[in-house]
Amino acid sequence: MNAPLPLNITRSTAAQAYDDVARVSNEVAGKLAQRLAAETTGEVLFSPADRGRYATDASIYQQMPVGVFVPRTAADVKTALDICRDLQVPLVPRGGGTSQCGQTVGAGLVMDHSKYMRKVLQLDTEARTAEVEPGIVLDHLNASLKKHGLWYPVDVSTSAQATLGGMAGNNSCGSRSIAYGNMVHNVIGASAWRSDGTLLELGRYDTASGAARELGDYVKTLADQLRPELEAHWPKVLRRVAGYNLDIFHNQNEKPYTADGSVNLAHLLVGSEGTLALTKSLKLQLSELPRTKVLGVVNFPTFYKAMDSAQHIAKLGDGALTAVELVDRTMIELSLQNPAFAPTVRTALIGQPDAILLVEFSGASKAELTPKIKQLVDLMGELGLPGSVVEMIDDAPQKNLWEVRKAGLNIMMSLKGDGKPVSFIEDCAVPLEHLAEYTDALTQVFRKYGSKGTWYAHASVGTLHVRPILDMRRDGGQKMRAIAEEASALVRHYKGAYSGEHGDGLCRGEWVQWQFGPKIMEAFAQIKTFMDPINLLCPQRIIDAPKMDDARLMRFPPHYKVIPIQTALDWSAWNVQNDPVTELTSAPGTGGDPAQGFAKAVEMCNNNGHCRKFDAGTMCPSYRVTRDEKHLTRGRANTLRMALSGQLEGMNAQDAFTSEVVHEAMDLCVGCKGCKRDCPTGVDMAKMKVEFLHHYKARHGHTLKDKLVARLPDYAPWAARLAPLLNLRDRIPGLALLSEKLMGLSARRTLPQWKSSHFFNTPRRSASREQVLVATRPVVLFVDTFNGYLESDNASAALKVLQAAGYTVHVATKAVADGKALCCGRTYLATGMVDEARTKAKELLDALLPFAEKGIAIVGLEPSCLLTLRDEMLAMGLGAAAETVSGQAMLLEEFLAREASAGKLKALKDQLKPMAEPLLLHGHCHQKAFGAVTPIMEVLKMIPGAKPELIESSCCGMAGSFGYEAGHYDVSMQMAELSLLPAVRQQPGAVVVADGTSCRHQIHDGAQREAIHVAALLARQLG
Ligand SMILES: Cc1cc2nc3c(=O)[nH]c(=O)nc-3n(C[C@H](O)[C@H](O)[C@H](O)COP(=O)(O)OP(=O)(O)OC[C@H]3O[C@@H](n4cnc5c(N)ncnc54)[C@H](O)[C@@H]3O)c2cc1C
Ligand code: SF4
Ligand code: SF4
Repeated sequence: MNAPLPLNITRSTAAQAYDDVARVSNEVAGKLAQRLAAETTGEVLFSPADRGRYATDASIYQQMPVGVFVPRTAADVKTALDICRDLQVPLVPRGGGTSQCGQTVGAGLVMDHSKYMRKVLQLDTEARTAEVEPGIVLDHLNASLKKHGLWYPVDVSTSAQATLGGMAGNNSCGSRSIAYGNMVHNVIGASAWRSDGTLLELGRYDTASGAARELGDYVKTLADQLRPELEAHWPKVLRRVAGYNLDIFHNQNEKPYTADGSVNLAHLLVGSEGTLALTKSLKLQLSELPRTKVLGVVNFPTFYKAMDSAQHIAKLGDGALTAVELVDRTMIELSLQNPAFAPTVRTALIGQPDAILLVEFSGASKAELTPKIKQLVDLMGELGLPGSVVEMIDDAPQKNLWEVRKAGLNIMMSLKGDGKPVSFIEDCAVPLEHLAEYTDALTQVFRKYGSKGTWYAHASVGTLHVRPILDMRRDGGQKMRAIAEEASALVRHYKGAYSGEHGDGLCRGEWVQWQFGPKIMEAFAQIKTFMDPINLLCPQRIIDAPKMDDARLMRFPPHYKVIPIQTALDWSAWNVQNDPVTELTSAPGTGGDPAQGFAKAVEMCNNNGHCRKFDAGTMCPSYRVTRDEKHLTRGRANTLRMALSGQLEGMNAQDAFTSEVVHEAMDLCVGCKGCKRDCPTGVDMAKMKVEFLHHYKARHGHTLKDKLVARLPDYAPWAARLAPLLNLRDRIPGLALLSEKLMGLSARRTLPQWKSSHFFNTPRRSASREQVLVATRPVVLFVDTFNGYLESDNASAALKVLQAAGYTVHVATKAVADGKALCCGRTYLATGMVDEARTKAKELLDALLPFAEKGIAIVGLEPSCLLTLRDEMLAMGLGAAAETVSGQAMLLEEFLAREASAGKLKALKDQLKPMAEPLLLHGHCHQKAFGAVTPIMEVLKMIPGAKPELIESSCCGMAGSFGYEAGHYDVSMQMAELSLLPAVRQQPGAVVVADGTSCRHQIHDGAQREAIHVAALLARQLG
């Protein structure tokens, strides 16, 4: 049990793999790891932390796999299958791991297809078909199809993370299933291995031969024998995803699986959740991209009326109706409380509706579709609701509203405390004529068990999502069972499908027999045996499934405990409990977390996988370049959770938290705060990294490089004096290499240059404390270390701009002078020195409080410094003073944008000379996290002729000192190359604005271009 952690298993260490793994796990695991390492080219991840990171998905379950395998090629997949068969180790294939029912949680070898198995193998634009590997993500496929006017239309909410293999596994369904159907309606072929290693080519039954034909004949015989059973027990709805698709031979679905009535054997695999075969590739039927869409948002006075109206709206069909989606009152309220969503939601509301339905029509032109909206308006008039429809014809407002709807579940999941909305009956599908009665009855059931549910999603097909709030650490399991029993009785009463979208997994497997009866269940078991007689593939799913409330399978079982920690930062806001009905939370600090709220903050990650995204936004740069679960926000949260709860095997709980294993997972986190903004449940890994480093460094000590970085604000005055000497590092050959050896600073980087003459030792014309306190247009300028010592032209420029705008500017200095400049403590936080950062912050507060108390704006230039005042400083136990100062702290561009909108910047605008060059803006991550990108765009637009263009970039990769470190150089450059550097190179004549010191340095190093601070550009335009 004492093998060194983490285990590093590669081809070259394959011989050692058996010993290493067998010691921490068991003999079979050792053999498995050894053979995978020796016989494949894939990644072999068997350390306790790796296994912990793959022990969960977006469900309530957790099971520790034997190991994890990340294949690079189809040959690797086949070899791994053969090895698992030889050693009798179950195999659990996985894509993005976003299943909600525990489909990817299993005790065998978890095989992650998402990293490498993601090629489009073939595209036929004429026939509109594509053949893809199973690990390709839907959004990535659709991005590649867009230029051909095509798309794959099963538009699941998780389109940015769901893989086609996973979607096929679950028979996933999108918001527009009323028009396009589910996965089963859009897959036309599959190539897949049975557990005996036979490769099946599955397509049309009538032309099948060999093993595929045998399978078809076998299932057809079963289906023929059971025809009366199918007619009697099979739900007659579009959304039924439970069990196996035995009905391919005698269709029971509202929408036949094929247009021509033929039987396609690939459909047997769709929805089989990896239990029948291992998918090698899928052949997909593509659709023409809808040219245009219109949206009618119907506002309802009662939820019941909305549900009752859905059946009538669905009849407006005739192909143009592509979605009818519900957003209920709770969701509307939550969205209105979210600053990012509120303005969008308001555009959809008439008064205070109890629910809204988003009714979408798609077609060739707006002109063709506008009459459809008219029909909707007329229908609502007939149903007694005249004037209830908001007509959205333009694309932009529609797109914004769909984003809010897609974020629905995640908005709900942001509830703090141990009670969480739990997914177990969230996709029951009932015929539309019963929707109102069904939802009403289920709401009563929730009430009976002291809970409530928020309803949303696919009203068009009778699949409404709802999650009652349950506390799984206490009585949640019992309540879950009781509610499930009553919900299932309702589903049966209304002849619906118990599992209508999210599949069976661990959660609904026990309900498969309940749904279909013993004879069909027996047929399912026979199909499983025919395909996988040795029960190698995802055992105990669909067949022989466990009880849904088996506490041994839970992520948060009643015995779940975390270690006590004395935290450095204040996490009390997470240390709360909630009321499942009112959703009100108790006072901060009362939640009973022995880790003072830190553990509960970590546990906010519900594994939904939203951080695996590559689209606009920042989260998560380290995943974007590595595609490793370990370097993903979710992977980090899981690693921390495993450590804090003593689940990292081979370590005692106290040591685990400050171990190298956790350090390794946190290492590539650049602290960009992308997750703080983009993670739907608000997982703030940047802040967690500070907390972690505080404890880790307390145990392991600070390195020379840590001290050099952290203490920069302290030694800056004398470093400036020694500038000619210190700058030699980048001039004398060999010194850079020496600095890499001694201090870990990359020799491939230049370092910022010190200057003997800088802002702080240059005489300037600015107001005193006393003058600014009585001025009519006062502002306080907080000049940080970087802009004061290293790029002091920016500080001078800011002073010039503010004065040109007519402000009385005071440059903040320490209340008690000691020859040093004020500092926010950022460099100390970055190295986990929270106590030293607190001392700096305290000095800053003492200096700034008198101005903040008078409501005077405190303006800063470096986003990571200034925004510390609005973020970490509030978590350092500095009381009301920190709140007051935080309330007045703003970036220069935020201040100027505010003043401009109040009509106070006419004088400045009149002085700005026009500019003709193209203008590019790279937003600093913290600017993005705090919504400061819009203000800077507004400010840049004040320059006559300026047409600023925002670079859609994630983190620049420099992130303070991160990119300077030798061990991070490559990853840092890869982050920059994702989009920032290519965008800069593409416009050689453009002025590039970047407010972050490190961003400018990265642009200099990577594109050999000099980016400038917004203050410098404005000052330049003043002439
Ligand atoms: C916030 C949220 C919103 C969601 N919204 C929707 C929605 O709108 N519609 C919807 O249908 N679902 C939705 N889901 C559920 C889930 O996202 C989808 O089912 C998704 O398609 C799963 O894709 P994945 O790549 O994460 O698959 P995974 O969860 O990794 O795997 C899914 C299944 O496929 C199997 N599998 C994966 N690869 C293979 C392979 N190569 N061979 C054989 N079997 C394989 C797995 O074993 C597993 O059984 C949502 C989930 C969340 C968390
Ligand atoms: S970190 Fe946030 S976005 Fe990522 S899986 Fe967890 S909850 Fe989802
Ligand atoms: S702070 Fe940035 S790098 Fe770190 S986990 Fe969050 S998004 Fe990823």
